Amino acid sequence: MTDECPHCYARVIAKADGECPACHRNIRDLTGTDPTRTQATLLHGAKLPPFCCDCGAPTDRYVKVKSTMGGPGGSNQKALWGALAMLCSFSLGLLLMGALRREQLSKRPNDVAVIHMPQCEPCGSVRRPAPIRVDTEQLALTFVVHREFKAHLGEGTASEK
Ligand SMILES: [Zn+2]
Ligand SMILES: [Zn+2]
Repeated sequence: MTDECPHCYARVIAKADGECPACHRNIRDLTGTDPTRTQATLLHGAKLPPFCCDCGAPTDRYVKVKSTMGGPGGSNQKALWGALAMLCSFSLGLLLMGALRREQLSKRPNDVAVIHMPQCEPCGSVRRPAPIRVDTEQLALTFVVHREFKAHLGEGTASEK
């Protein structure tokens, strides 16, 4: 059972008193939070519906968001997983890993996740969409988006983690 933290949008298992382990704010305290926002995890190359990710209004304007793996959004947890994966790669044997790696490389030429994020003009002038988390394994970017936009997300996107 996980909750979505209304402050940092991480999916967390809150402590008994409601404290978010990621940002240490209380998930039951909604002060200063925006109830229209939620997080969505989008896979590399995902086809996204023509609705602004920031306000949910219909738009045909798409913004290219590119994220090199290991770039912004990496968390401590990520580093931990990275270390674990590294350990595994050694214990499982480099041969197997090499084969896997080759297969992954063929799918992701530059280790870059590219998402064409729908965003209307007014929202675009405020800020560019930027992922809050990057999943190097699944080549997925997690964004904080408008609930309306998330509601339009169809198949082919991992909207829940
Ligand atoms: Zn939090
Ligand atoms: Zn908008």
